[in-house]
Amino acid sequence: MKEQKTDLLIIGAGPGGLGAALYARRSGLDFIIVEKNMAGGQIINTNLIENYPGLMDNISGFELAQKFVEHCRKLDIEIQEYFPINSIEQLENQPDFSGNVFRSSGEDISIYSRAIIIATGAKPSRLKVRGEAELMGKGVSFCATCDGALFRDKVVAVVGGGDTAVEEALFLTNLVKKVYLIHRRDELRACNMLQCRAKENEKIEFIWSSIVEEFMGNEKLEAVIIKNKNNGKSMKLDVSAVFEYVGWQPNSELVKHLVDLDEKGFIATDTTMKTSKEGIFAVGDVRTTPFRQVITAVADGAVASMYIDKYFMEKG
Ligand code: NAP
Repeated sequence: MKEQKTDLLIIGAGPGGLGAALYARRSGLDFIIVEKNMAGGQIINTNLIENYPGLMDNISGFELAQKFVEHCRKLDIEIQEYFPINSIEQLENQPDFSGNVFRSSGEDISIYSRAIIIATGAKPSRLKVRGEAELMGKGVSFCATCDGALFRDKVVAVVGGGDTAVEEALFLTNLVKKVYLIHRRDELRACNMLQCRAKENEKIEFIWSSIVEEFMGNEKLEAVIIKNKNNGKSMKLDVSAVFEYVGWQPNSELVKHLVDLDEKGFIATDTTMKTSKEGIFAVGDVRTTPFRQVITAVADGAVASMYIDKYFMEKG
């Protein structure tokens, strides 16, 4: 088992973790940043980023993530990709530091640190209805950017009424013949600009107040059964794909035994990104926050690193 020591371990290299790394470098902190997949976070699957200040030329999420990574490399920050951390423990009675010390372990490595930033993001929620598990990857998808091109000129559906559902439905209209947008209420949650665009798009047909009951198909998805909540009637929609965008589940398992979580499992923090456990911080989509945007995640990371600099000064 290899061992490494650092002042700060940043777990996750999405916008929150990368924002934290940039500010940790500026503060001259000794830190390591690890990412269990490829650096960039969820935005690498986002077709278009239109609301990051200064970037107004139709940049994709993948390109923006690359810019964040390039910026880190320019500051000699080494992002350790494909590096999963499997467990975190608090160590008792450590000398030379008046705060907590932690051991974060991967397959054959332990990293000892005085602070940790959890920037592990969130994963898509699932509808959990009949046929979903069997048809996953065979027409049931969580990523229009990844899978949309497989359904060129076909009829597909998107489930959800938030920014993601509407944005991805709009993206799909560039590829497919028609998109049913199935939402459980009769009004969208998405921002006004996206709502207007979707309502003007002739390829999108809204199916209001309806929930998905079942996915049907053998080798591939052929139809979806939906039920209208107002009249209780079910109907079958013939579709080649359904893209689910019904919210997110936090990736907070690593620290659920150490910090307070909210009722949905997101990590509770204060405005400095401190959690209930001294020395553990959380940023971006994994923490309880009213808004989940790239810009808010990056800002969380910056705040956490600036605060941690003060924290180390106080603790000696
Ligand atoms: P979200 O805002 O949580 O919306 C999830 C949608 O799924 C809601 O409309 C919800 O319906 C619906 N839903 C939840 N559970 C459901 C179920 N079991 N069955 C059917 N429908 C269900 O998630 P999101 O759209 O992924 O957005 C997440 C965050 O990222 C938000 O803060 C959003 O603003 C942000 N975001 C921003 C951008 C952007 O700025 N361009 C793009 C994407 C996401 P109800 O409305 O009835 O609750």
